[in-house]
Amino acid sequence: MRYALVTGGSRGLGRAVCIKLAKQGIPVIINYQSNSQAAEEVKQIIEAEGGIAELLQFNVADKEQVDNAIENWETTHPDDYIAILVNNAGIREDNLMIFMQDEQWSNVIDTSLNGFFYVTRRALKGMLSKRFGRIINMASLSGIKGLPGQTNYSAAKAALIGATKALSQEVASRKVTVNAIAPGFISTDMTKGLDEDSLKKLVPMGRFGKPEEVAALVGFLASEDSSYITGEVISINGGLYT
Ligand code: NAP
Repeated sequence: MRYALVTGGSRGLGRAVCIKLAKQGIPVIINYQSNSQAAEEVKQIIEAEGGIAELLQFNVADKEQVDNAIENWETTHPDDYIAILVNNAGIREDNLMIFMQDEQWSNVIDTSLNGFFYVTRRALKGMLSKRFGRIINMASLSGIKGLPGQTNYSAAKAALIGATKALSQEVASRKVTVNAIAPGFISTDMTKGLDEDSLKKLVPMGRFGKPEEVAALVGFLASEDSSYITGEVISINGGLYT
């Protein structure tokens, strides 16, 4: 069976993506770092609707954890493979560059960029040998435009976009597509601390997006219908100019 692995599937965008893919009939592996209760909740929602979901805890920024978790999963699933990978796990630790601490820089790069590398390298093998795959990378408006206070985050997301374009060309002949999504402001735990009232005035649609709206795009990119789209960065931001 073709499975989807969604990193950071326990909350926010990842949670909505897991539920959407399961609704499309795809068995889902819900990765999370520490919030097992939230991850279990997503699993239960999917199972209540008749879908298949499994939990797989690992820190995407830890190469050994990534390799061990995926290897164990493969051992217990000899007839299955990860055909769809949504690299969604991400954090933000904002600060002006002048005040930025080493850990703020490296934590953000380690999660968004190195995490993408460790998980994707490990999952690619199956996709290439089965000659079908979908890799969807959660970038950001911040990686296209750059946002003050986010040099670490903008750098990680811009690098993710570069890697998306390069990898898409490496694997296109094997029917593996690689695309990035660049959301604007979406209502999740990550954006909870922001001043929504003033920020939404910048958005032509006058509101933050919903995780389900991003999940709908992931659902399309994960499907067979998107087979000729690769190396793209698709913005989803309510018209916020980039
Ligand atoms: P969120 O609500 O804070 O959720 C983050 C998710 O990532 C959680 O499931 C968390 O797991 C997981 N996670 C964090 N670090 C991890 C690690 N090292 N290993 C494995 N899982 C990890 O964030 P979100 O708003 O849904 O954001 C999801 C993605 O979209 C991120 O890449 C973010 O940069 C991007 N994005 C978000 C927005 C927005 O407006 N929300 C806009 C643009 C881009 P636990 O539950 O275990 O902590």
